[in-house]
Amino acid sequence: MSWAIRTEIRKARKDHVCSGCLGSIPKGTRYFFGVWADGEISTAKLCPKCHYVFKEGLFWDECWPDGALRECHDQVPDDYVIPEKVRL
Ligand SMILES: [Zn+2]
Repeated sequence: MSWAIRTEIRKARKDHVCSGCLGSIPKGTRYFFGVWADGEISTAKLCPKCHYVFKEGLFWDECWPDGALRECHDQVPDDYVIPEKVRL
């Protein structure tokens, strides 16, 4: 069981790699940043599509192998953007 201890929406000041799909999060894009406690502390950055997959629970497991969220991208609306503030 893991839980988020801190989540926030950030704007990329440089290019990042998405933890969900291993795609790029280009500089200037809004993305989701989360810190989880799961025995140890882990962090994740999610691109908009992976954030949607995550918040809507489209992926079957709350812990996903690197890159696994990509398989759910075709269920994400093309115009989805991350809201400025989110609560989980
Ligand atoms: Zn992604």
